[in-house]
Amino acid sequence: MTQVKDRAYWFEKRETLQIEGRAFIDGAYVDACKGATFCSYSPIDGQPLATVAACTDADVNLAVAAARRSFNAGVWADLPPRERKAALLKWAALMQAHLEELALLESLDSGKPISDTTGGDLPGTIYCLEWFAELVDKVHGEVPAIDPQFFGTVTHQALGVVAAVVPWNYPLLMAAWKFSPALAAGNSVVLKPSEKSPLTALRIAGLALQAGIPAGVFNVVPGDGSVGRALSLHLDVDCIAFTGSGKVGRQIAANAASSNLKRVWLELGGKSANIVMADCPDIPRAAASAAAAIFANMGQICSAGSRLLVQRAVADELIAELIEAAKGYQPGHPLDPQSVTGSIIDRIQFEQVARYIDIGKREARLLAGGNALSLAGEGAYLEPTIFLADANARIANEEIFGPVLTVIVFDTLEEAIAIANQTEYGLAAAVWSSNIDTLRTATRALKAGTVWGNCYDELVDMNFPFGGFKESGNGRDNSAHALSKYTELKSTIIRCG
Ligand code: NAP
Ligand code: MG
Repeated sequence: MTQVKDRAYWFEKRETLQIEGRAFIDGAYVDACKGATFCSYSPIDGQPLATVAACTDADVNLAVAAARRSFNAGVWADLPPRERKAALLKWAALMQAHLEELALLESLDSGKPISDTTGGDLPGTIYCLEWFAELVDKVHGEVPAIDPQFFGTVTHQALGVVAAVVPWNYPLLMAAWKFSPALAAGNSVVLKPSEKSPLTALRIAGLALQAGIPAGVFNVVPGDGSVGRALSLHLDVDCIAFTGSGKVGRQIAANAASSNLKRVWLELGGKSANIVMADCPDIPRAAASAAAAIFANMGQICSAGSRLLVQRAVADELIAELIEAAKGYQPGHPLDPQSVTGSIIDRIQFEQVARYIDIGKREARLLAGGNALSLAGEGAYLEPTIFLADANARIANEEIFGPVLTVIVFDTLEEAIAIANQTEYGLAAAVWSSNIDTLRTATRALKAGTVWGNCYDELVDMNFPFGGFKESGNGRDNSAHALSKYTELKSTIIRCG
């Protein structure tokens, strides 16, 4: 008989969960050089969850040196591609075998509902790793048609040491979006997970070794305050990939410029517009989609549809449907499989979102939510919140990164496109219309890396690059394009005879 995976099941599993908080450097779990630690709290109830190594420059130096040694020794980069592919697939299989343990750890560390981590974060991480593993032995170069006296090739070569600094909103998935293509391309990696959610990255490092990924090829250095800076300034790091705020993204780019001009890939914030035209084919579906676009993952999604632009003729109808749909996103205890949403990542982020709700209450009309909820101890729970605002309101232009939707009413398509494009961001956008010309005009004009028509955030497929226009960043995660971020192009020209 299959066991019912109810709340009691996950609570019981939590009791026996072994949590690793040490750094992973050169194939072994180690304490930070100075023996310093910090506490990783669970936002579920605000209670301490694990003691984690507080790495600093000295630990970064060890991790980068181990990565460099493994790269130079060719134990990974020079393996036959099929062997690299096999090791990455084995690692993915081990994650699958440990899916429940990893999902529980992710929920405990980040406050995400267990239904999301078991059904989204972990399967998404495994899919990403498998997708890039399968690409390893399908990378081709070019042989240009040139003067017959010469033979020339254009090939991709691994960069060397890739650092990745990743956020807390999808801790393991965002890490996988970086390390999967970087490792597939043959690089050695030093990963810095967010201090707010470091535990799953540490756990999968042991699994990497078990899968046959050689020591030094995959390192994890948790820390709180200096690791990202040390990595971005390091003279022996060839590339740094970052997902997080624009403020830190700028510092990383400046650090790269002032050190060794390492390659910098940034995936930053967003304030994505979801435009509903009066000829929208299905208003209830658009409303349900708009609610999911902002309230899933407690709004902590860089591509969240945080601005809903609605044409005046259907505004009342859409808003009424939306308020109903939002009720489906009331937070619940993250370990209850019935919960659709859980806790905000921590009290700091909670306070920041609460400040924006206060601003909204002053400058806009509150349509739904707006309150904190006490569900468990010192947990950080917020109601799904909807405001009706002017296009120039602060809450209509600044990234809130929480469950707060700003609805803006417009009259013409031109006006909607102008509003959509007015922020410094350009991560995602959507348009709903029954008219193919409107869909075509809008999807072309919207300045965003991903644009949806008659849906929002529905198809999660690794074939599509993900990233932003404008200040939402540069480069792209996912797809074969991401692989080229972690390689150099080499032109080889040989004179024959
Ligand atoms: P953050 O401040 O952007 O980034 C924190 C990470 O950056 C930490 O790992 C930190 O490591 C590193 N860091 C800090 N200062 C650095 C520097 N000078 N050079 C290099 N690395 C540095 O993220 P956050 O505080 O967790 O979130 C703040 C905001 O970021 C959110 O409100 C949200 O708007 C945005 N965010 C965006 C995304 C997204 O998907 N685009 C995801 C999460 C958050 P060390 O302290 O060890 O150096
Ligand atoms: Mg945590």
